Amino acid sequence: MHSHNHNHNHGTGNSSDASRRIGWAFFLNVVFTIIEFIGGWLTNSTAIMADAVHDLGDSLSIGSAWVLNKLSDKEANSTFSYGYKRFSLLGALINGMVLTLGSIWILLESIPRLAEPEMPQVEGMLLLSIFGIAVNGFAAYKLSEGDSLNERVLNWHLLEDVLGWVAVLIVSIVLMFKPWPILDPILSIGFTLFILFNVGRNLKETILLFLQATPDDKQLKEVRGVLTSKPEVKELHHFHIWSMDGEHSVMTVHLVLRQEVTVMQMKKLKNTLQKELEVFAFVHTTIEFEFADEVCRDESANH
Ligand SMILES: [Zn+2]
Ligand SMILES: [Zn+2]
Ligand SMILES: [Zn+2]
Ligand SMILES: [Zn+2]
Repeated sequence: MHSHNHNHNHGTGNSSDASRRIGWAFFLNVVFTIIEFIGGWLTNSTAIMADAVHDLGDSLSIGSAWVLNKLSDKEANSTFSYGYKRFSLLGALINGMVLTLGSIWILLESIPRLAEPEMPQVEGMLLLSIFGIAVNGFAAYKLSEGDSLNERVLNWHLLEDVLGWVAVLIVSIVLMFKPWPILDPILSIGFTLFILFNVGRNLKETILLFLQATPDDKQLKEVRGVLTSKPEVKELHHFHIWSMDGEHSVMTVHLVLRQEVTVMQMKKLKNTLQKELEVFAFVHTTIEFEFADEVCRDESANH
């Protein structure tokens, strides 16, 4: 009987603790995002609006990390036979689209203000920025207790957010003493370009994963090297490596064996390959043995 286990644990933290901490960060972020949108509107500050859009994106990604933290524990079933890991791609795609639309909106608001700057309500900006530093700092502190991959990524990110709010704080202090309202759209355009740069990078990664691009050319060469280094193997085709979610890869290949290979040699070959492929940690590996006088059952075998 064939039985195997595709489960594994990321990080050493307790998954329900991690889930509770991420849930906390999510709740804080959603509440804070709402406060920022209202605050940005009340203070007439595009810099705060840009930060609000950014935090909307954060809320979405923390929310999906929270849900996925639970979902990824679910067993594969006959409908989702690869399990639920690819659901994270869907979350990333939605997040990327929301952030792109939000960023375009901020640019449409901010760019005209370069020509006709409007003075924001500076005391409100100052208060919101202090609040922002406190909330993001607290969330980062909360997550620093955890060591799951999700938590470490979020934690690093929240520290970046604290720096963003420090920039708003500095601008609001400058505006208290100098009549330079143009600083507000400059800051918001700067934020937004930074957001768009990251969104573009993440979207590209996500789309490549959706399109089943080879995740790592160097790895592909190394695996090909392992497979073709065996004397029993004459050639290979239908060689594919793709990644389900950027972390978990799948490998399939047809190996054409020399005609004289015996069953014992074939078993030995399988064992050797299993050992040598272990370092690549594929979550699904399919290797088809073919003999030279056989016709490949899959069409277009020239890849
Ligand atoms: Zn299996
Ligand atoms: Zn953020
Ligand atoms: Zn193929
Ligand atoms: Zn074949």
